[in-house]
Amino acid sequence: MSAIQSTCAYCGVGCGVSVSSTQADWEKVERANLTLTGDINHPANHGHLCAKGERLLDSLAQPNVLRYPMLRSGKPINWDDASSLIADKFANTIAEFGPDSVALYLSGQLLTEDYYVANKFAKGYLKTANVDTNSRLCMSSAVSAMQGCFGEDVVPGCYDDIEHADVIVLIGANTAWTHPVLFQRILAAKKANHSQLVVIDPIATATAKQADIHLAIKPGADLALFHGLLGFLADSNSVNHDFIAAHTQGYNEIIESAQQLSCNLASLAKQVGVSLAALTQFYQLFINDNKVLTASCQGVNQSVIGTEITQAIIHCHLALGHIGQAGCGFFSLTGQPNAMGGREVGGLATQLACHMGFSTPEQQLLANFWQVDAVADKKGLAAVDMFDALAEGTIKAIWIMGTNPVVSLPNTNKIAQALADCPFVVVSEITPDSDTAKLADVLLPAQGWSEKCGTVTNSERTISRQRGFIVPKGQSKPDWWAISQVAQKMGFQGFEFKTNASVFNEFACLSAQVKQTFAGKVFDISGLANLTQQEYDNLAPTQWPIASAEHIGQTGLRLFSQGVFATPSAKAQFIVPKGLNAAETTDTAETTVLLNSGRSRDQWHTMTRTGHIASLRASIPEPIIQLHPNKLASLSLTEGDLVRIDAINDMQANRSAQNSTAQKNAEQNKATARVVADEDMAENIAFMSMHWSAQFSLGKGVNQA
Ligand code: SF4
Repeated sequence: MSAIQSTCAYCGVGCGVSVSSTQADWEKVERANLTLTGDINHPANHGHLCAKGERLLDSLAQPNVLRYPMLRSGKPINWDDASSLIADKFANTIAEFGPDSVALYLSGQLLTEDYYVANKFAKGYLKTANVDTNSRLCMSSAVSAMQGCFGEDVVPGCYDDIEHADVIVLIGANTAWTHPVLFQRILAAKKANHSQLVVIDPIATATAKQADIHLAIKPGADLALFHGLLGFLADSNSVNHDFIAAHTQGYNEIIESAQQLSCNLASLAKQVGVSLAALTQFYQLFINDNKVLTASCQGVNQSVIGTEITQAIIHCHLALGHIGQAGCGFFSLTGQPNAMGGREVGGLATQLACHMGFSTPEQQLLANFWQVDAVADKKGLAAVDMFDALAEGTIKAIWIMGTNPVVSLPNTNKIAQALADCPFVVVSEITPDSDTAKLADVLLPAQGWSEKCGTVTNSERTISRQRGFIVPKGQSKPDWWAISQVAQKMGFQGFEFKTNASVFNEFACLSAQVKQTFAGKVFDISGLANLTQQEYDNLAPTQWPIASAEHIGQTGLRLFSQGVFATPSAKAQFIVPKGLNAAETTDTAETTVLLNSGRSRDQWHTMTRTGHIASLRASIPEPIIQLHPNKLASLSLTEGDLVRIDAINDMQANRSAQNSTAQKNAEQNKATARVVADEDMAENIAFMSMHWSAQFSLGKGVNQA
């Protein structure tokens, strides 16, 4: 029996998997020959997998796999004609309306090689930075907070910190469901080391139920909680003044507003929505040299003040001098398997490759490296703005890869209409059944997990190989290959890549050049430049920075441990929060129920890869909305009733709608779910997962609300 090591297709923990086959010839392998287990040698999971990971092979039984390029009419088309058509449409659109009339919308599911070529195509050759990703939705707050405080989009810690911490704080993260293998590691460390677990979440989630302290704060109170903590640390003489003086800037400008909160803890506790005793107990965990690790996820990131909340968390660890030390500091949990890898190659509209910005020297370096006269000279449109521009008609051609924005973006009725009205839509997918694929003028068959090869980077900066083990059926191709075909049809030089290894090598060589030119950049994979094909094929999981080939295989690295940061002054920054008084909600009436959305344990994104797996579907077979029993009673609802969910603005609009047909149409486009009584909900909070759409249920999903 032979085995191939790869990585899980789902979350940012980045677990290694080992796929074994009874068929010696991998060219002839079928699903029936295969077994999958956790890779005991992978540093992210040491052999453990969660329910989704264990069923990865079941995801291969897609009911309807896209095998060939297709036009909207359903007519098959060959790759050569499809590439020519896309090249012509993009070229003509740019000729008539300029480079910013086209856009690429990418995904944290893509491999680093796909992301690199997409960014080169858009920013280097189309001359537009309108290339963004669904990772924007989950990570942009953390990215901009780390850029602001540390000078670069860098997570300082590593998973090993879990075993070194005295206290682990999870905020805005239902880790038990969304990063299960990491959560099991946290529970194991808690048991072995008697460390304490604090969970900050308005809902008594599966994660919160395992906590020593659960702070069920009011939604949006995170910023006051952590800014007040900074004041408390100063009040109790716990801050590390030597570290602050030597390695940071801005402390004096920020501490006064923090102490205004902490000077009256009773009032702060009321503002945050917890008891004074609970608030004080939590704050005291940060003093007396306790090693505290704070990890955040979407509950923090997907907030109108997400950047400021994250910065407030970082400030507390900076004030203690606890960054880059074992068991201490801030950690950002990434949602998708390659959210970080995409950022490394410039997968956001607001950055260039290798963590470069849009300064003239950075643009120049990239232009020289790609041998073009110039690259995009300004930031492009971020995800939501990009689709707004699509709706307004200023973007006239878009290429969407590996994501389903018609279900996953906010206000998806608008997204669907914008795509339907857009003159030219290309979608790269593994299935023609997704809601977005149905709106494509040209649908391209992408290779999926199990077929494609490349690299991904997980939450702790570890680059791992994803290896294909099934010969792609039909005409499906890697996304980097599809982009390269179109680029060559447009007459662009520099897209003659033959293998994923050749793409990765170009990226690693670029990293070497950036390192040589800009001292102080933390991101560095120059040690992976010029690998042979065999070395790339055999690449072991390796955490960056990777300064030389000798570092291949390294893990457990911490950054900024010497107090030298990536800012121009080499000092970390305290940044005054502007959103302390910003309201997260627009309606505070007692009858209002605030709807939180998120993931459920056994599904993935818009279910296109997990919705057909019966054993995963069994735990929650249909869309539900969870409400506290008292709230159900006060709304005269009975468990099992079907409800329609309205956004506040739409409720107001509907109330005043004169045209009953228009109102009926609007109502039909709303999210629909069955109510479930759940005592874990606060009385003014409801929860509905983000996964459902008309493809898998009778009703619309939560983003249609
Ligand atoms: Fe996959 Fe995440 Fe589960 Fe690991 S924890 S097996 S990466 S879904």
